[in-house]
Amino acid sequence: MRGWLSLVAIALMLALGWSAWPIAPRWNPWAPLDVEEAPNWLTRYKLLRLRGDPQVCRAALATSKLQYRPQANSPPGDRCPLLDVVRVTGGPVRLSSGFLASCPLAVAFAMFERHGLQPAAQATFGMPVTGVEHLGSFACRNVYNRSQGRLSQHASANALDIAAIRLADGRRISVVQGWAGGGKEAQFLRQVRDAACQSFSTVLGPDYNAAHRDHFHVDMGGWAVCR
Ligand SMILES: [Zn+2]
Repeated sequence: MRGWLSLVAIALMLALGWSAWPIAPRWNPWAPLDVEEAPNWLTRYKLLRLRGDPQVCRAALATSKLQYRPQANSPPGDRCPLLDVVRVTGGPVRLSSGFLASCPLAVAFAMFERHGLQPAAQATFGMPVTGVEHLGSFACRNVYNRSQGRLSQHASANALDIAAIRLADGRRISVVQGWAGGGKEAQFLRQVRDAACQSFSTVLGPDYNAAHRDHFHVDMGGWAVCR
C-alpha cells in the first residue's frame, strides 16, 4: 500500500511540475537546497543535483552564511581547469585561511558546519565550534601525488582537507591527536566524520589509511565513500 501511494505521489509531482507544487520548498525536490533548513530525505538528492547545475548551486550557495567571492574561470587548456569556483573567506566559523571551492563543495561545507559540526560540538562539549583549520583545497595534482593516474578531486577545488576544530573555549581538537586519544575528543571526531558523510560525497579519515591520519579529506566527486 505504501509503495503504491508513493508511486501516486511521484506521478503527481511529475504531472504538476515544481511551480505548481503546493508544499514547502524543503519537501519540494525541484526547489534549490536551502542551507538553513533542517536536512531531510531529499537533501542527499539536492546535494547531488548541485554538481550538474551551476545555477541551482549558486542559488543554494546564496542561502549559506559563508562569505565568498566568485572566481574567474581558468583559460581553456589548463591541466586543472577551475570552473564555477568561489573563494570561501569566512562565515559562521573562522577559517585558518580562505580556500578555493567548487560551488558544490562550498555548499556541502556550509551544510556540514550548520547541521553536522555544530550539533556534534553542542552534544559533546555543550558549546559551539568557532573555527575550522584546514590543509587546503586546490592542488593541481594526481591522487596521492602519484606521477600517473587520475587527477585528485583537489585538482578542481572539489576537495578540502580538514585538520582541526576550534571550540568556543579556545580548545583545539586535531585529527592527528584526538582520533587515537580516546575520550570525548575521539568520540567527537567520529561524530564529525559521520556528520561529514551526510553532506559530502566522499569522506576519508584515519580509519581509511595512514595518509589520512592527520585530516579528514572531504570531496564532492562521484565516489561515495565514508570511512
Ligand atoms: Zn584531500
